[in-house]
Amino acid sequence: MKKLHVNKEACIGCGACVAIDNSHFDFGDDGLSEVISEENIDTKEVANAIASCPTNAISMVEEKDEAKEGCDCCKDKKCCCQDEEAA
Ligand code: SF4
Repeated sequence: MKKLHVNKEACIGCGACVAIDNSHFDFGDDGLSEVISEENIDTKEVANAIASCPTNAISMVEEKDEAKEGCDCCKDKKCCCQDEEAA
């Protein structure tokens, strides 16, 4: 399942994403963008908002159900620390 994410550390609150797609993005109390809906995120508007962000703060990440079985530190099955353990 895909999930939208705004990196608040990178967001500068320019408002581009909110202007392009206010059904998925809005300003939080901190004046920075946040995701307000995860519904129907495979749209042109979401893609445009991601592409228009000047700081690349918006990402769409694939959440895998089986990730729970992965490494404790990052839930990644091919995690660097698992490589270390194998070495
Ligand atoms: S376009 Fe990027 S920098 Fe601008 S408000 Fe949205 S997330 Fe923040």
